[in-house]
Amino acid sequence: DSYIRIDNVSRRYGAVKALDSVTLDIAKEEFIAILGPSGSGKSTLLRLIAGLDRPTEGHISFEGKDVTGLPPHKRGIGMVFQEFLLFPHRTVRENLAFPLRMRREPQTVIDERLEWVAGVLSLTALLDRYPSQLSGGQQQRVALGRGLIARPTLLLLDEPLANLDRELRQEMEVEIRRYQKQLGIPFIYVTHNQEEALSMSDRIAVIHNGRLEALDVRQAIYDSP
Ligand code: ADP
Ligand code: ADP
Repeated sequence: DSYIRIDNVSRRYGAVKALDSVTLDIAKEEFIAILGPSGSGKSTLLRLIAGLDRPTEGHISFEGKDVTGLPPHKRGIGMVFQEFLLFPHRTVRENLAFPLRMRREPQTVIDERLEWVAGVLSLTALLDRYPSQLSGGQQQRVALGRGLIARPTLLLLDEPLANLDRELRQEMEVEIRRYQKQLGIPFIYVTHNQEEALSMSDRIAVIHNGRLEALDVRQAIYDSP
């Protein structure tokens, strides 16, 4: 029942072992948090899953298919970053549609997906606005929508709430969690924030100095002083 398999993966940068023999299986309907301090290897792991970087050792497979050598656009993934990376001179509609335009999808498909994603993320009334006319939470929902519009097999999120204030962050934690359950695809959520990992995820993978130190440590975290 392993949907994503990270099999003994290492990534070295010169003398630095950014990731060291990480093995991790992720299930189809799972929300997994990758928790660790700055410099522990979280972004490296995410980049390897995305295909933005290659492991020096090991293999990554999706649904039993080895994707280790595949470029990002052939992996069927969506990504959401800390910086929303919205195009300021394009409307919400065009920001959302961008990944589909890149793939030269026909307008009928684009319209249908726009309706779907705007519905899921409550963006229907905002489609003709520009990013500067949106609140931080609305901008983050557009960034999420752009990650989801091509119907990825998994969504990678790299500290997506780090730039939001505390109240909005808590609201978005609940929303993101709900989207994941609704969509039924794995969300792999990188954070250095323990509370965020605890409140959102089904499972927590703790990484430290490039090594997977603990898995499903929820109870250990609750019990720690
Ligand atoms: P995190 O995302 O947890 O902050 P990173 O994955 O960015 O950690 O980095 C893990 C380690 O690998 C750090 O020591 C970092 O300096 C190093 N590293 C990451 N990317 C590179 C790179 N492109 N070149 C050299 N070292 C890198
Ligand atoms: P994050 O804040 O998400 O952990 P980082 O700031 O660690 O990301 O890394 C941002 C970019 O810089 C990444 O592409 C990473 O590969 C690169 N990088 C990180 N550490 C180093 C390093 N020591 N030398 C060269 N590049 C690095």
